[in-house]
Amino acid sequence: MRQNITVLGSTGSIGASTLDVIRRHPERYRAYALCAHSQVDKLFAQCLEFRPAFAVVRDPALAADLAERCRAAGLPTLVRHGVEALVDLAAAPEVDAVMAAIVGAAGLEPTLAAARAGKKVMLANKEVLVMAGELFMRAVREHGAMLLPVDSEHNAIFQSLPADFSRGLASCGVRRILLTASGGPFRNTALADLCHVTPEQACAHPNWVMGRKISVDSATMMNKGLEVIEAHWLFAAPPDMIEVVVHPQSVMHSAVQYNDGSLLAQLGNPDMRTPIAYALAWPERIEAGVEPLDLFAVGRLDFQPPDLERFRCLQLAYDVLREGGTAPAILNAANEVAVAAFLDRALPFLAIARLNEAVLQAVPAGPEGSLDDVLAADAAARRYAGRMIGEGCFA
Ligand code: NAD
Ligand code: MG
Repeated sequence: MRQNITVLGSTGSIGASTLDVIRRHPERYRAYALCAHSQVDKLFAQCLEFRPAFAVVRDPALAADLAERCRAAGLPTLVRHGVEALVDLAAAPEVDAVMAAIVGAAGLEPTLAAARAGKKVMLANKEVLVMAGELFMRAVREHGAMLLPVDSEHNAIFQSLPADFSRGLASCGVRRILLTASGGPFRNTALADLCHVTPEQACAHPNWVMGRKISVDSATMMNKGLEVIEAHWLFAAPPDMIEVVVHPQSVMHSAVQYNDGSLLAQLGNPDMRTPIAYALAWPERIEAGVEPLDLFAVGRLDFQPPDLERFRCLQLAYDVLREGGTAPAILNAANEVAVAAFLDRALPFLAIARLNEAVLQAVPAGPEGSLDDVLAADAAARRYAGRMIGEGCFA
């Protein structure tokens, strides 16, 4: 039986890699719904190749344009628009698995809908767990969803843990989780030079080709901070059990240290098709189109502790994780606004961390009781961050 897959964020970096793995296994997987924001040309090309039952875009005008093109090409694809369509297609009875690869808070509602519908959820969209980790994990448990981490580090940790890790890391003999980080493009840049960093420089990641938001997050190491929070929720790991290790080669994708002295890690070339294929086929393994790792070519692996002075955002993530409630949602929202402003050249690179910190100080956190609490905290943080940028506070 072929599995019907909904790809949330099909035109992005993870979306395109997901479709590449699906393309290699037409007997196993069918792209049932392809969902994107506004890149209609790219989405139409994907529709031509994969002939999905549904395609989704942001607004009615884009949907009308895409629907006309699909009709003219004789495709069976029905075109819908908006958040409601994303939610429907994440939860539809025909769907077996959902790739959650929208970037940022926009992915929260459809990904939560997939969990509530008990789907197999392949999670790339880490902001979902940062914003609403408690709600999302509860939905996964209560509705019998299967959660498979796609983020390369979390996928590596998942592979390095015993299958029944949900009974508790301590009772599995886990001492620590070692979350590896490349350190991004500015690991060794003099602090004084970081004032003048451009979006192009920040997006030029040394090892991974990714979307622009996560590339900037990697440059500030906010990405690693978001991943600490992600690991906390995925593996019920207390913050003190999660240690960030800078590993510039990005070959060891993370590791688990056990109390008998063993360290289990997953290694591979930095190519997201590996964790995507793992999540798609789990517990089986399938061809992903990724070159086998050549250890002789790699030669050596280096490891260093992170510099928390330079990478202030990483420290902020540990702080909000310890604070709990809606504090991580506030940090996430502030960071999304800050990164968008940086990419628009309206905020200097070093001001991203300063803005995040200012928003955390100004916007009070509360309990993460419901989705409304999370969305209200997210909105308040965005308003405050937008105002600070508008007033030129960090120019
Ligand atoms: P990207 O910017 O390349 O793609 C984002 C996708 O989301 C696009 O298809 C876009 O159309 C869609 N999208 C954006 N806003 C939307 C909205 N409001 N409604 C519907 N669709 C919307 O990003 P990416 O690099 O593919 O990252 C996607 C997610 O995966 C992020 O959360 C990122 O942190 C995570 N992730 C990415 C990588 C990677 O290697 N790229 C690795 C690990 C985790
Ligand atoms: Mg990652």
